[in-house]
Amino acid sequence: MGFMQAVWEHGVWLKAETDMGTVIVPANVLTIEDLRREYGQRVEFETVEGWGARLSAPGYMDCTEWTLHESAEEAKAYLVDTYELCERCGDDSPENTVCDVCRHAADEEGVEETTGQERVS
Ligand SMILES: [Zn+2]
Repeated sequence: MGFMQAVWEHGVWLKAETDMGTVIVPANVLTIEDLRREYGQRVEFETVEGWGARLSAPGYMDCTEWTLHESAEEAKAYLVDTYELCERCGDDSPENTVCDVCRHAADEEGVEETTGQERVS
């Protein structure tokens, strides 16, 4: 399994346009007051309902910034495209290899099919 795991979840988000770019955080984790302390009083905020997506390493502080999407499918597709994840399970296996989590072969020329290695659950 890769170190970073794809995460996408539905919720209410705070979206702020700041000098450091767009900041998106779960509304149940931080309040607008928290963000004002960090980014300044003049920052504009809006509350958005939707699907947040990012990569995170379980047990570590290491993670990418949240991005917002309109559906679970869009959120997952964004992560797969941006971070070259396995399109089936979202693991961050390197490109052009067989995914070491779900044995899904990347859809590239020269990659051998993995017949007989599908895991049955
Ligand atoms: Zn996979």
